Amino acid sequence: MTDRDVTYRVVWVPGTDELVGVCHCGAEHVAASPVEIWAWLLGHPQGHELVGATQ
Ligand SMILES: [Zn+2]
Repeated sequence: MTDRDVTYRVVWVPGTDELVGVCHCGAEHVAASPVEIWAWLLGHPQGHELVGATQ
């Protein structure tokens, strides 16, 4: 596992007050605050490398 493989995106949802965080594994999480998004992304432990490796 390298840092290069880790890609997170945090994008604002147009028309709402919400942000959506997208993990490099494809999981998404919607929250109203960037702090919550990043807390989820960084604490999102399961299913990262496994997603690509098992397909
Ligand atoms: Zn993930």
